[in-house]
Amino acid sequence: MHTLKKVWSDECTACYKCVDACPVKNTLDVRVAQNSRPLPSWIFGTLVTGVFIALIGLAMITGKWQNSISSDEYKSRFKELDTPAYEHFGARGH
Ligand code: SF4
Repeated sequence: MHTLKKVWSDECTACYKCVDACPVKNTLDVRVAQNSRPLPSWIFGTLVTGVFIALIGLAMITGKWQNSISSDEYKSRFKELDTPAYEHFGARGH
């Protein structure tokens, strides 16, 4: 594995742990394309967060971020979370 020039895996979540753990600095990096510049972890995190916020914001603006449950029902159900109605049998040794 240490002789590979490139790791291309759909299992990679771009966590940067391998980049941080490598004892030889500037050996490993994350790029969006083969000839692109290395992508620092803070930029990657900012991009992922930005896309996430943009998609949710777009869904909220266009009214697609709703369901049939009212805010009042959410508030009512939230108060019942610690009641037996929402107890998960097996989770507490039942
Ligand atoms: S960034 Fe490195 S350690 Fe993290 S998932 Fe991808 S290959 Fe694995």
